Amino acid sequence: MRNYYTAIQFWSYSLLVVCLCPLAVFLGSYMGWPLGVAPLLLLAPPVVLAAISSQRICYWTITALAVGACFAEIFFRSDISHVKTTYPLTIMSAAVLIGITLLIDLYIGKLRGKLSQIYTQNDDLVRQLYQSQKESAPDFHQTVSQTETKDRQQNESKDNPAAEAGVNYPLLLLTLQDIGRRISTNQSNELLIPTVISTAKASLQCEHCQVYLWDSKARTLKNALPARSRDKLDYRPVHNRGVAAWVIENRQILMRNDAEKDTRLKRILEEDPHMPDAIAPLTVGSELIGLLIIDKVDIDSPTIGRLIYILSNIYALGIKNSQLFKRIEEMASRDGLTGLFNHATFQEKVHELVKNADAQSTTLCLVMSDIDHFKSFNDTYGHQAGDFVLKEVSRIWKTVMPENAILARYGGEEFIGLLLDHEYSQAMQIAEDLRETLENCPILFEGQQLQVTASFGVTEYRHPATTSNELVRVADEYLYKAKENGRNQVMGMAPNSSRKPST
Ligand code: GH3
Ligand code: MG
Ligand code: MG
Repeated sequence: MRNYYTAIQFWSYSLLVVCLCPLAVFLGSYMGWPLGVAPLLLLAPPVVLAAISSQRICYWTITALAVGACFAEIFFRSDISHVKTTYPLTIMSAAVLIGITLLIDLYIGKLRGKLSQIYTQNDDLVRQLYQSQKESAPDFHQTVSQTETKDRQQNESKDNPAAEAGVNYPLLLLTLQDIGRRISTNQSNELLIPTVISTAKASLQCEHCQVYLWDSKARTLKNALPARSRDKLDYRPVHNRGVAAWVIENRQILMRNDAEKDTRLKRILEEDPHMPDAIAPLTVGSELIGLLIIDKVDIDSPTIGRLIYILSNIYALGIKNSQLFKRIEEMASRDGLTGLFNHATFQEKVHELVKNADAQSTTLCLVMSDIDHFKSFNDTYGHQAGDFVLKEVSRIWKTVMPENAILARYGGEEFIGLLLDHEYSQAMQIAEDLRETLENCPILFEGQQLQVTASFGVTEYRHPATTSNELVRVADEYLYKAKENGRNQVMGMAPNSSRKPST
């Protein structure tokens, strides 16, 4: 089939070049072009096409034909009187055609080299895995040998369920390798869970697959993809009842048909009559990550339990990996003492939100504050009391600020908040609420009533700041003015006012 296709390609391109040759002669003499120009213009496209789409021997032959056509033009052009002066142009056209093919040839050669390297690595890996499987289970491979008698095959296949099921190990290993790769490269749970579900469905050939994540603090199970309408499975595992409780406690896979046979498990099954075909714990070491729920699967296949076991281990590792990755990302973006965003993350977010505000023409306001005389507070009450106050101040910010505000600890005792869709007057009011709450809310620390005040700077985007850096700079300017003016106050620049601070 492939040979036919190659032959058709070769003859089509050859025919095209041969037909274009007289056309080039006619066009050249009709337009009075120098030798070589018409063949180059007409023959370059088929040469490029052939070089991209056909085999090496084919495109080099087409190029040779095209080069020949360039030189053939010399003999057929009746209008050329000074052949000698125009002859070099023909050589140049031929050289350009050869050059084009050579470049494409080099590039394609590189790509093919890389591709074959990947294939070789893949093959080697599968061969190694297959070999180690063969060494660890030599009897199985004797079983599948065609020279063995049927009786022996039957006896041995009884000992080895994989043989009975006719498992294609290289294919299975390739599938597992592919799943492992896809799981390890998806580092966010949002992408990982759909990959888990789709690969589980494909490799187990089941109709339903769901992942429930275990929250060890709240001791709850949560569907990792609740809005998946295609996977309507009515079963909801409950952590302290029925088969799910048994799986969580024993950290073992439970298959419906096994539970039906076991008298003790039968009682649990009666509690949970809608149990799906299999429930597998997703564990890493002794830690439970979640449950893998599988339904409408070939439960009688002797290898299904082993396959679910292998897959659930891969999935558990992948999910744990993504959870750790998320935690590290979260830790790197937050301030350790207050839990608010840190300076760097805030800068990134402000930059992004300013861009959004530009695109959607929405309003943004910035509130910046600095605790008054905090150095002397530390000197009087100690750094531990100071740390406690910083935590309390951040708690007040979280309470008073709207839920969608971006809050950060900008520096030592400096806090900053970006208010989305807020106008200047609203931002001033919020800053005033913050100031008042701080002033009137004593902080209890080790039996002492502590109290701090803070100064605030407020500004609205585009009045006058037009970039994220300017926005912070203007808010800082007004914060400084509030300090200069006596502290414990809010100052900002009202839109459309001349640069005169308002309080
Ligand atoms: P001003 O009213 O002008 O802002 O005076 P201030 O004393 O607050 O300003 P200054 O910048 O001189 O001092 C800031 C102090 O904040 C210095 C430092 O001891 C304290 N500080 C910064 N970070 C922390 C922290 O993480 N914990 C504690 N306890 N103190 C901190
Ligand atoms: Mg300061
Ligand atoms: Mg201060």
